[in-house]
Amino acid sequence: MKLCNDCGLLKNDDDFYRNYQTKDGLRSYCKDCMSQQVHQYRQTEQGKQMQREQAAQLRTLRPELAKAKNAVNNAIRGGKLIGPDRLICAMVDSNCHGRMEYHHHQGYESMYWLDVVPLCSKHHKMANHATKER
Ligand SMILES: [Zn+2]
Ligand SMILES: [Zn+2]
Repeated sequence: MKLCNDCGLLKNDDDFYRNYQTKDGLRSYCKDCMSQQVHQYRQTEQGKQMQREQAAQLRTLRPELAKAKNAVNNAIRGGKLIGPDRLICAMVDSNCHGRMEYHHHQGYESMYWLDVVPLCSKHHKMANHATKER
């Protein structure tokens, strides 16, 4: 158990990200507070700029992934898909953590662009790992 320096709540070690520079090997802010900070940072000009740069980088490195993501975002904006934040994780269990995202479980070919399943960011990472980030 550890006390979060931000929200001041006593939480499980699992609720903190690892940090090898600290004595107990954990960050001083819990995951919830960290994701709150990331969310706030994304609203700032600097944060928006960083997101634009990341999107541009993705378009260069993984063009098919960028296109698939774009198609999903357009479908959400156009009302064809529900935003993942309003859905529950397809692998829902006690390990669920982070933002809800859509996972391209079939791959990034154009016929699968909208063939997505909602996953929390933790299970999304695991799923991408399992499919070798195709
Ligand atoms: Zn906290
Ligand atoms: Zn999950």
